[in-house]
Amino acid sequence: MERFDVVVIGAGGMGAAAAYYLARDGRRALLVEQFTVGHSRGSSHGGSRIIRHSYVEREYATLAPHAFALWRQVQAESGARLLADTGGLDFAPPDYPTLLGRLETLGALGLPYRLYAQDELRHDFPQFRLPAGWLALYQTDAGVLSATRCVETLAGQAVRRGATVWENSRVLSVQPDGAGVRMEIDGHAGRQIVLADQAVLTAGPWAGRFLDELGITAAYAAPLRVTHQQLVYMEVAQAARPLFAADRCPVYIGLPMPYFYGFPIWERPGQLKVGREMDGPAIDPDGERSVDADAVAEVEAWVAETLVGVIPKAVSVEKCLYTLSPDGHFLIDRHPQHPQVLIAAGFSGRGFKFVVTTGRLLADLAASAPGDYSSPLWRETFRLDRFVSGKKLSPSVDTANL
Ligand SMILES: Cc1cc2nc3c(=O)[nH]c(=O)nc-3n(C[C@H](O)[C@H](O)[C@H](O)COP(=O)(O)OP(=O)(O)OC[C@H]3O[C@@H](n4cnc5c(N)ncnc54)[C@H](O)[C@@H]3O)c2cc1C
Repeated sequence: MERFDVVVIGAGGMGAAAAYYLARDGRRALLVEQFTVGHSRGSSHGGSRIIRHSYVEREYATLAPHAFALWRQVQAESGARLLADTGGLDFAPPDYPTLLGRLETLGALGLPYRLYAQDELRHDFPQFRLPAGWLALYQTDAGVLSATRCVETLAGQAVRRGATVWENSRVLSVQPDGAGVRMEIDGHAGRQIVLADQAVLTAGPWAGRFLDELGITAAYAAPLRVTHQQLVYMEVAQAARPLFAADRCPVYIGLPMPYFYGFPIWERPGQLKVGREMDGPAIDPDGERSVDADAVAEVEAWVAETLVGVIPKAVSVEKCLYTLSPDGHFLIDRHPQHPQVLIAAGFSGRGFKFVVTTGRLLADLAASAPGDYSSPLWRETFRLDRFVSGKKLSPSVDTANL
C-alpha cells in the first residue's frame, strides 16, 4: 500500500498549483488525475484566461496582486511564458452598478486605472466601438494567462520539486481514517488503496460527488452547480491584425448582462477568442456537450457591433465547464469534522487567475493547525460554514464572473 504526505485529487489548475506548493514546502505529494494533465474536459484548458484586479468585491481585488506576483515567480522559475501584460478594458453604461463598484474598489485600494469616454477611447483603442454614452474603464494591471501551459508548467514544476503525478487514474473514494485519509484509486497499476496524512480535493466540476459523500453538501446546503460555457474563435481581417496584437489590444469585458469578454490575437495566428457567459441548467460533467448555436449567434452580433476589423463569423467553438457555489464565491476550507481533508471548489469563471493563490493557500492550510487561518491568502468569503444560517454572505455582486 502506497503512502504519501498529501494526495491532491484532480490536476486542473487548482490541483497542479497545490501539488507544486506542497512539493516546494517539502511535502511528499501525489497528484492524481483521471485524464491527462492539460486535458480539455474540465475548466482549466485552452490558450487564454483573463487576469485583472477590477472586482467590486475587495476579497478578490486584494488577492489579485498576490496572484500577479506568484504567476511571475512561477514564470521566472520555469522559464515558460505564462503571462502577457496587455491591460484590460471594461465597457458599460456610466451608471452601471458593477462599473461604479469596480471604480470604487480600485480607487480605495489605490490600484491604477483610467476612465475613457467614447471619443478618447477611439483615439487610443480604435479597434473598439461603444454604444453612445458608454464608458470604458482601463486598467494597466491586466493580462492574459496561457491556461493549459500554466497547468502543465505547474505540474511539471511540482514533479521537479519531488511530487509524483499519476495520470489516467481516478480517485473512487475518499475516507477519513483516524487522523489520516484512505483513498481507493483506479488506473495507475489497477485498483489500489493509497493512504495519506492529508487529502486536497480539487476535482473541479466533479467535486460535487465528493462533497456529497463527505457530508458537506447536506451540512451546509451548499450544492455545486456545473454549467456549460463556450468560446468562439473568429478571424481578424488582415489589415486590422496589428491593432488586435497582444501589445496593442487589451483584454475586454462588456459588463451588462449577459456579458461578453474577449482577448487579443493570442493562441491562434490571425484569430481571436470571444465568449458570452452562459447560465443554464446544471449538467453532468461526464455528459456530451453540444454547441449552443443561439449563443454563438449572440457573440457574432456583439462582435459585429463592438470589434472593428473582426469578421463576425465563428470559425470554431471551444467548450468548457463552470462550477458554481450557491453564492458564487469560492469554497476553500478544511472539512469541519475531518480537518485532514482540504476542499477547494466552486471557482466559477473567475478562478484561473487565482490558481496560484489557491494552491499556495492550500499548502499553507495543510501546514497549519486546524482553526489556523493566518495565511495572507485566506479570505472569510471562502469559509464552508458561511451557508449556515446567520453567517450567510451576500451573493457575488460583480456581474462578470470572470
Ligand atoms: C469558458 C471559461 C472561461 C473562463 N475564463 C476565465 C478567465 O478569463 N479568468 C479566470 O480567472 N478564470 C476563468 N475561468 C475559470 C477558471 O478557468 C476555472 O475557475 C478554473 O480553471 C477551475 O479549475 P479547477 O482546477 O477547479 O477545475 P478543473 O480544471 O476542471 O480541474 C479539476 C480536475 O480534477 C480532475 N478530477 C475530477 N475528479 C477526479 C477523480 N475522481 N480522480 C482524479 N481526477 C479527478 C478532473 O479531470 C480535472 O482535471 C473560465 C472558465 C471557463 C469554463
